[in-house]
Amino acid sequence: TQQLVWPMAQFGQVVNMYQRAEASSERIFGLMDEQGRIERDDDADDLEVREGRVEYDRVSFSYDTVDSSDSTDGAETVRDDSGSERIIDDVSFDVDGGETVALVGPTGAGKSTVLKLLLRLYDVDRGTIRIDGQDVRDVSLSSLRQSMGYVGQQSFLFYGTVEENVTYGTFDASREEIIEAAKAAEAHEFIQNLPDGYDTMVGERGVKLSGGQRQRVAIARAVLKDPDILVLDEATSDVDTETEMLIQRSIDDLTENRTTFAIAHRLSTIKDADQILVLEDGSIVERGTHGDLLENDGLYSHLWGVQAGEIDELPQEFIERAQR
Ligand code: ADP
Repeated sequence: TQQLVWPMAQFGQVVNMYQRAEASSERIFGLMDEQGRIERDDDADDLEVREGRVEYDRVSFSYDTVDSSDSTDGAETVRDDSGSERIIDDVSFDVDGGETVALVGPTGAGKSTVLKLLLRLYDVDRGTIRIDGQDVRDVSLSSLRQSMGYVGQQSFLFYGTVEENVTYGTFDASREEIIEAAKAAEAHEFIQNLPDGYDTMVGERGVKLSGGQRQRVAIARAVLKDPDILVLDEATSDVDTETEMLIQRSIDDLTENRTTFAIAHRLSTIKDADQILVLEDGSIVERGTHGDLLENDGLYSHLWGVQAGEIDELPQEFIERAQR
């Protein structure tokens, strides 16, 4: 049985695109490099997003309690609470509607996993994640996923036209709206210069787009989708400084007044976040604004020091902690 059904697959018109997308080895959500396992309730009510407030309430999670030995048995999920490594350990935080929360920390700290739980690629073992008071486990998956947009490192393009790639996730967009979105994403110009403009085939077997171009298509897709909650996974910058500034500006527009989760590697891109959560080993070890954290003299301020070129390397203490 197919466990993860991307919401778009319900709508005839895009099923074909979805299937093509699946057939290619590309990933839909960047984060979704795996088929999660959750208990599915097809009769659940739809999520109703009002302010876009998100609460993580004492959330814990381990991957190895998910029994992946049998991939054919649908929703059956085996939980075993004994002694497995907690990837997310008793994490609590609140994000007010419209706020931007940034997740930082070493590779493997659990940043992506925090977001996979929000998207319900996996269910929490303990605790609750709520969006405007609704437990994500109690709402329909399609409405949950439809409320979210993703712009990330591995922004996914399927084999199809640029236009189809931009409209993916939105059903009835006119060409004008698509162009508006592309303009907002600083993508219109390069799209126009493609051999067939918006009708150019991209993705596997299509015209190869650069990383920066793919990212701009993903931003245009998010602009058009206008999701209640935005997930940003910062791209490794393979674009020139000017393009990067343009991209950053369109991302800033996109996050304004929208609940945003940002996984950041370069701290300079998130220093204006409403709150920054520093994760280490599945726990939040520091939280606050950029200013708060600089005063803390903890992992964040040292990472910042390294990235700002103020100190040469992370003090040994932090390196050892990251390698534990
Ligand atoms: P980050 O985003 O901070 O780099 P992740 O959330 O990707 O961290 O990973 C946290 C931990 O969970 C890591 O130890 C990683 O190896 C492990 N992990 C991530 N995905 C899976 C998975 N699908 N199955 C088992 N372990 C996983």
